[in-house]
Amino acid sequence: MKATYTFMLTGMLLLFTQTACTQPKKTMKYNPLTPEEQAVILNKGTERPFTGEYVDNKATGTYICRQCDAPLYHSEDKFDSHCGWPSFDDEIPGAVNRHTDADGRRTEITCKNCGAHLGHVFLGEGFTEKNTRHCVNSISMKFIPATKKVIEKAYFASGCFWGTEYHFMKAKGVISTTVGYMGGHTTSPTYKEVCTGETGHAETTEVVFDATKTSYEDMLKLYFETHDFTQVGGQGPDIGDQYRSVIFYTSDEQKSLAEKYIAILTEKGYKVATLLEKAPVFWAAEDYHQEYYDKKQGSPYCHIYRKIF
Ligand SMILES: [Zn+2]
Repeated sequence: MKATYTFMLTGMLLLFTQTACTQPKKTMKYNPLTPEEQAVILNKGTERPFTGEYVDNKATGTYICRQCDAPLYHSEDKFDSHCGWPSFDDEIPGAVNRHTDADGRRTEITCKNCGAHLGHVFLGEGFTEKNTRHCVNSISMKFIPATKKVIEKAYFASGCFWGTEYHFMKAKGVISTTVGYMGGHTTSPTYKEVCTGETGHAETTEVVFDATKTSYEDMLKLYFETHDFTQVGGQGPDIGDQYRSVIFYTSDEQKSLAEKYIAILTEKGYKVATLLEKAPVFWAAEDYHQEYYDKKQGSPYCHIYRKIF
């Protein structure tokens, strides 16, 4: 058995040597390090507890190696251990090497790609279900925030879509608006069909906005401030199911924000009639309905802005 093992090991070593010979080692260019960074990353020092840049960082993103930029940890695996250093209960698969520390007791962790000293890993402390704590020096890492989705879509129904669109197309951060139909049971509905109230669609405005300049919360506020969200089955003089007040959400985040604002209004004493539905297919309306009030140089008859929030 032992002989077989030794044989296999020799074989693997040979294979490795051959591979190493045939493939010239890539020369890697690492990031230059400051003396403080060198003290930890190269000389295996430890930064003082509670002083590192990322101890309390709760933002979503990825922690990469300060020396070589290899991704090491995801923010989802970070937890608060109160130990004074960033703590993770898992690494990005294959990103981290473990070695017995020079003290012969602890387990040192290093960047698998470049060997940079990261810190130590501890098992069995019971902090999280994974029972593992990567205790990492902030200075060994760089945090890259997750890129925020910049362009977002929102769908609002609040009576005659000319009036809904009128306010959104003028709002800060809005890139474009389109009026159309949503929430019915027929495909490619026409205005005439929707007007019968029999297709089940609601006149809806699609709002495309830049989330770095405005927010879905701002869109919600404008929505509630520009129609009577307590009216059931219509809006102003427009009576019929196609004029119902509905927020069609496109994500769980939008849904919970809409619920938040409905709760705020309820708290203020309003009886909110607005429905909350998952966004189905949006059917754009005929061209002559688009940006109607701008074309006609008019203003809406029942979508009057009033400040609530
Ligand atoms: Zn590295």
